[in-house]
Amino acid sequence: MGLFDTIVVDPPFLCERCGATLEIQTKEFDPGMSTYRIGSVISSAPVVVGVVKDSLFCSACHSAGRTASDPIFFVIWHHILAGVERTEDAALARLASVDRPDLITWLDQAQRGEREWRQRFRRFYRDVKLWHEHVERENAKLAAGSAATEVDSESEAAARVPFRFFLLPDEILNSPDPLAEILSQHEEHSPEADGMF
Ligand SMILES: [Zn+2]
Repeated sequence: MGLFDTIVVDPPFLCERCGATLEIQTKEFDPGMSTYRIGSVISSAPVVVGVVKDSLFCSACHSAGRTASDPIFFVIWHHILAGVERTEDAALARLASVDRPDLITWLDQAQRGEREWRQRFRRFYRDVKLWHEHVERENAKLAAGSAATEVDSESEAAARVPFRFFLLPDEILNSPDPLAEILSQHEEHSPEADGMF
């Protein structure tokens, strides 16, 4: 097996024989388990400008004993993956048609991706921070309870419940494992978003 990269296209390619959704994996780009899509800079591409041929594998056809491999062509334009095509002619045509609007589209995609990841990070950080504060408050309450004779004012303040806005939602707080719930809520689902960077 070894290392490979994954190329995500939207919509995904389907097998021309069995209709299965195909995952594009390649070892042509000094593979490092990266995920690329159209507009990604692939600095390790074997050409600066050109077409890289590889094969597209269908595991469903392979399991059924049919031909399982078809050619696929990566269009590389100044180290950018400009297209993924199933015929060499289509790849060469795509290579010849790359223009400034493409660059703007890719720039826009990259900047939107960056904003989305920043937001995701902020939301995740906020929830983990709120959880940390919750645990601290619970600990402070326990400490205050065990030292009943002399209530420490600091732990009393820490135990005070803040405004609702600064609390985790009930679905997290009431979960048997709140930290697992936080992780689950922020889990990566979209393969598209995978490997934006
Ligand atoms: Zn197939």
